[in-house]
Amino acid sequence: MSKKIAIDGPAGAGKSTIAKIVAKELGFIYVDTGAMYRAMALYMINNNIDASDSEKISATCQSADITIRHEGGVQRVYLNGEDVSELVRKEEVGKMASASSVNGDVRKKLVELQQKLAQTTDVVMDGRDIGTVVLPDADLKVFLTASSRVRAERRYKELTEKGEICDIDAIEKDIIDRDYRDSHREISPLKQAEDAVLVDTSDMTIDEVAGKIVDLYNNVGAKSSF
Ligand code: C5P
Repeated sequence: MSKKIAIDGPAGAGKSTIAKIVAKELGFIYVDTGAMYRAMALYMINNNIDASDSEKISATCQSADITIRHEGGVQRVYLNGEDVSELVRKEEVGKMASASSVNGDVRKKLVELQQKLAQTTDVVMDGRDIGTVVLPDADLKVFLTASSRVRAERRYKELTEKGEICDIDAIEKDIIDRDYRDSHREISPLKQAEDAVLVDTSDMTIDEVAGKIVDLYNNVGAKSSF
């Protein structure tokens, strides 16, 4: 049976950076489920769908073909055959993703795709509902968090390095709003699974967090082999 590590947590907690390192160290595939929700959001934007029009979102998502490929160990996300890996990182797409991901039809389609991926491959999968909904039988579940200010600072640094002009207070407000939406939505809200290990990354380095998760996984493996 394939091995599964679920990493959930709010935006900016460091999930993707950490998950990538853990996957590389263990020889697993890293699956960024946020990129799938972002690709779906991009499809909505391209089709001029309003973020509040849930009927149109439900109908439109059916014709979005989202696939994931791994090229040189790096995940690429495709929307109807086009590589949209860079396009989906835009702030505008993230905002739409937070809105369109509350839709039950969008979630059903993407959760099925994520579960299929994990059936045949050893994965480190990150998102909001991986430990609770997508992979409830994961070998290890981690809930990563950090204060909203620390998360805003990380995002600010990432965006300014890319040359985008941004305001840290606006980013923090956006993070708080997104957390609220993600954790209060009706379907698959962001919440820590009962059997997940909570890791607060505010005062930890990336390597410390990744090392801790690899240790946790190795300990789970040791326990279950008895
Ligand atoms: O993680 P990332 O910021 O790329 O995710 C974009 C949006 O997709 C999040 O704000 C969240 O609303 C949604 N998402 C989700 N479930 C997941 C992954 C992401 O609802 N498993």
